[in-house]
Amino acid sequence: MTWSMWLVPPFATSIFFVLGVITLYWSIFNWVTVKVESQKKPVDIKKVQIMVGAACAVVSIFGLQLLVRDSHLSWTFTSFQLLILIFVAYFLQVHIPYWLIIVTGIAFMLVNGNINQPLSWLYTAIFGVFYAVSYVQSVRMWPRPFLRYFVTALLFALVLWGFVKFRFALAWTTYAEEIINYLILAALMYGYFNIQDKDRRIKDRLFQAANWDALTRVKNYAAYDREIGYQFHHSVAHHQDLAMIMFDIDHFKHVNDTYGHLAGDEVLKKVASTVTDILKKHGAGITLYRTGGEEFNIIVPDGTVEEAQVIAQEVFDAVADTEVTYNEATIHVTLSIGVSTLTVKDRNPLDFYKRVDANLYHSKKNGRMQITVS
Ligand code: GH3
Ligand code: MG
Ligand code: MG
Repeated sequence: MTWSMWLVPPFATSIFFVLGVITLYWSIFNWVTVKVESQKKPVDIKKVQIMVGAACAVVSIFGLQLLVRDSHLSWTFTSFQLLILIFVAYFLQVHIPYWLIIVTGIAFMLVNGNINQPLSWLYTAIFGVFYAVSYVQSVRMWPRPFLRYFVTALLFALVLWGFVKFRFALAWTTYAEEIINYLILAALMYGYFNIQDKDRRIKDRLFQAANWDALTRVKNYAAYDREIGYQFHHSVAHHQDLAMIMFDIDHFKHVNDTYGHLAGDEVLKKVASTVTDILKKHGAGITLYRTGGEEFNIIVPDGTVEEAQVIAQEVFDAVADTEVTYNEATIHVTLSIGVSTLTVKDRNPLDFYKRVDANLYHSKKNGRMQITVS
């Protein structure tokens, strides 16, 4: 069904147009985010989101301008373009390097066919500065964010619409009407974005809670389980090495019994941060997981037994040298460690895990405070 006569006032149309574009963007954004997250391969989700945001913005700004570029209405989408810029710079916080803003501006003038007019350069330059200012406003945690947002949006619109007014000899009433409509849309966008963003932040928090250990702030068992599944199949498929280091704090129950449970928590935190610091030196892919109460696991992708042994020794020494002070008491702990690498006999991640666990058990049975490698 289509209406043969459109009885909705243009301003109402533009509200739904702007909110519709944002909704469309959110739907694409969520769809891509879910797709990327469900992939086994770890991907930098932030980069993907920035690419989606930038692509949507470029397509809408350039696409719309192509529709009107040769007509006497080539200024029609000025407000809409400003709103898209606000959306990308202020709300999505897409950090575009300055050179790319200049290249995009020049491309826009080429599309618009007015690159030979000095006024277009000035007009485009103001757009570029507006982008940069909006971005900075958004990433700095300055007070009164809405007021700042609103005033910035207003100042740039006044200037840009000023250009359009004189260039196309528009009436002052048109000028005022466009500015007022634009401000209403900018305010609506602010509210609408915050509603949508709250939803996203809740999802982020759930994702965080599901994958990270709240006490030690390292990844948890669920994250370990997913990662070892991925690493196992990846290593088998590509004939790559894979090493695992498992460690358990010795006589930890004694720490709890002697100094209290809170002291035990401090020890867990300190062990986790000490080991994390060691792993940082060995590259980004090597990750620590808290897989049990005082039991941890390190996955070393593409790691040989020699490499894993070096890491295990560094972890062992660093923890042994660490002191945890709690209520005047100084607590020392040691580790029992098991190390192994993937073999052709391992049919699934559990076979591999069992061998590492057996090595850890061997260290425990053999008097603790030692590393067993096989
Ligand atoms: P072993 O040398 O054989 O590993 O002995 P252990 O005492 O370290 O091992 P055991 O398994 O007997 O005890 C582990 C203890 O760790 C028991 C449990 O109360 C404690 N624990 C588990 N999670 C936490 C935690 O989050 N905080 C604290 N403080 N203690 C915890
Ligand atoms: Mg223990
Ligand atoms: Mg244990």
